[in-house]
Amino acid sequence: MKKIQVLVIGGGPAGLLAASRAAQRGAEVLLLEKNKMTGRKLRITGKGRCNVTNAGEIRQFIEEYPGQGRFLYSAFARFFNEQLCALLEAQGVALKTERGGRIFPVSDSANEVADALTEYAQQSGVRIWTGTEALRLYFETDSGGCRVCGAEIQTKNGKDRIEASTVIVATGGLSYPLTGSTGDGYRWAKQAGHHVTDLQPGLVPLETRESWVSELSGLSLKNVEASLWAGPEDSEICLDRQQGEMLFAHFGVTGPIILSLSRAYAAAKGKPARLKIDLKPALTAEVLDKRLQRDFVKYQKKQLKNALNDLLPKALIPVVIQTAELDGESWVSQITREERGRLGKVLKGLTLTIQGTRPMAEAIITVGGIDIKEIDPKTMASKKAEGLYFAGEVLDVDGYTGGYNLQAAFSTGWIAGEAAAVQALKIEAKLREVRSLLQAEGPQDRKEEDDDREN
Ligand SMILES: Cc1cc2nc3c(=O)[nH]c(=O)nc-3n(C[C@H](O)[C@H](O)[C@H](O)COP(=O)(O)OP(=O)(O)OC[C@H]3O[C@@H](n4cnc5c(N)ncnc54)[C@H](O)[C@@H]3O)c2cc1C
Repeated sequence: MKKIQVLVIGGGPAGLLAASRAAQRGAEVLLLEKNKMTGRKLRITGKGRCNVTNAGEIRQFIEEYPGQGRFLYSAFARFFNEQLCALLEAQGVALKTERGGRIFPVSDSANEVADALTEYAQQSGVRIWTGTEALRLYFETDSGGCRVCGAEIQTKNGKDRIEASTVIVATGGLSYPLTGSTGDGYRWAKQAGHHVTDLQPGLVPLETRESWVSELSGLSLKNVEASLWAGPEDSEICLDRQQGEMLFAHFGVTGPIILSLSRAYAAAKGKPARLKIDLKPALTAEVLDKRLQRDFVKYQKKQLKNALNDLLPKALIPVVIQTAELDGESWVSQITREERGRLGKVLKGLTLTIQGTRPMAEAIITVGGIDIKEIDPKTMASKKAEGLYFAGEVLDVDGYTGGYNLQAAFSTGWIAGEAAAVQALKIEAKLREVRSLLQAEGPQDRKEEDDDREN
């Protein structure tokens, strides 16, 4: 059995920063990571380039976390993008800002970020045990309530126990479980009396019913607007809309705007939904109709299937013609106004039926997690068990793509580390005080106590 002041479970971005900060505050810190290396998920972020954060201001940032952004105010007030960038640059990681304020390492290497943060933790004095899995947490319950007192771990030689004054759970969510995030933290949180909200895949591709989609697999559409709709067709409501790039896949649709829309789909909790793709968002219906008329004059001697090349990628033309219930073999000069209207309608809203999302294993983030109502936003301390802290994706906070999820993990980790160290040192000081009081009592006092007991 080992005794430690702050025990951090999980060597991802949240755990690494939590442990570093706790050690800097003077606590003795042990970080457990079940993989052989730290930051396995971090190493595949941003397609291996790691979009570490975003250059946005706090207010704009907060809006990028659907629903729960305000919970992050206090964490961001203490440790935000500027502090993170300064930390990384001090560790030798040069950074660059790309489109949409996305910040990446100049090297385009997520490994460089993960290695730098691991080194930072070691330099701060953190002891890191890789290949060590925490199996469960220990709690003590007395009249004062429930408090965490350590964890059981799996070592090469069997099971062992680590006693800790405070414990930070930074075990991540459920997405990409091969990277190590298998939801252990949720189980422990429930054990401590926490409520864990519905867990769903977030920032995830969407599966569609239409069979033609698979034939377009690999086709990317740039500068389109996709909107997600739910409810009966005559009274449907728009859940969200996004402009940018999307991609067809054998199962349905993916790409940046689809991943963002998947968040609204998760919020609709599996209600039937439709995706409408405006293939020409820059043109109003009237302007588009004029454009079609011009193209039809230009290609009046061609068949419809050969007259849309200026407007659409080749692979999409038969789909659009078929969806508009037109005949591709018709001569353009014979297309009626009503038929042109049908074509325009499809170009402004090519509709797909959403059947579900791809599985959790393919999701960028977990939607849902430990209920933030039960967490102190200033310290990340559990309101259910003393000495227990949570940081990162294990919490019910999720953001859109753009560096927001990593910043949330870094910021919550930082403040959890700070608070857990302060509390652990207080506990230690109190214990020392009690011990010295006992020593000061001396053997004479104790003998008197013993005599009293015998009488
Ligand atoms: C493919 C992909 C790309 C992404 N790209 C970006 C991006 O570019 N920008 C961005 O902002 N976000 C991105 N994200 C999201 C981001 O990676 C996560 O939000 C972030 O890693 C969460 O950090 P975390 O520390 O909370 O959890 P994790 O990174 O999941 O780390 C948790 C760690 O805890 C360990 N662990 C779990 N259970 C135990 C246990 N019982 N004992 C010991 N150790 C344990 C795990 O092995 C893991 O190493 C991406 C996600 C994916 C899947």
